[in-house]
Amino acid sequence: MATAVVKSNVVILATGGTIAGAGATAANSATYQAAKVPIDKLIAGVPELRDIATFRGEQVFQVASESFTNEKLITLGKRLAALAKDPGVDGVIITHGTDTIEETSFSLTLTVHTDKPIVIVGSMRPGTAMSADGTLNLYDAAAVAADRSSGGKSMLIVMKDDILSGRDSGMRINSKTNAFGSQWGALGSVVEGKTYRFRAPVKRHTMNSEFDIETTPPCPRC
Ligand code: GLU
Repeated sequence: MATAVVKSNVVILATGGTIAGAGATAANSATYQAAKVPIDKLIAGVPELRDIATFRGEQVFQVASESFTNEKLITLGKRLAALAKDPGVDGVIITHGTDTIEETSFSLTLTVHTDKPIVIVGSMRPGTAMSADGTLNLYDAAAVAADRSSGGKSMLIVMKDDILSGRDSGMRINSKTNAFGSQWGALGSVVEGKTYRFRAPVKRHTMNSEFDIETTPPCPRC
């Protein structure tokens, strides 16, 4: 008798950015409004996600990421930590504006203790633009978040087919879809929804961090 495959349950915490952006015309790849499209619409726009796992969206914020404050970062981190503890959640994706993905991924790597896959994803072009990259980036992020072997590696950034360490990666150019990189190279790659690993993260895992978002007050210096 065939064994039923149990799909992972993945929550997408949406915060805005270009991946939720919209422009006036398809030629507007660089001038557009970030943080316009709600997460449920983004999920509905990629029906192939259903082949990978079960997804549910939560609209935490709807902002361009330069509008992230300490308070927002802590709110996001606390929600992430709560979901990571939930036995019904196997992985979490955060959609985020690319301008401060590296700050958020570094902070959450230091402060959220979990062995579950956590993936941060954005895009360089809004969904209304020609050759928009958000759809594939979200699909790739889904593949990584639903893969249990992505756990125990702290935050992962998935952009332009690359799986990058959320601790040592950043934006290197703000006008191209291959905007992100790490001086250590990518941890792996995603091709047609399959993940391939090249190396383990260099730095120690967040489970050993002395910082903990769960004991952080809502906003220490606000
Ligand atoms: N500046 C906006 C933000 O960081 C858009 C940049 C982007 O997502 O690529 O949210």
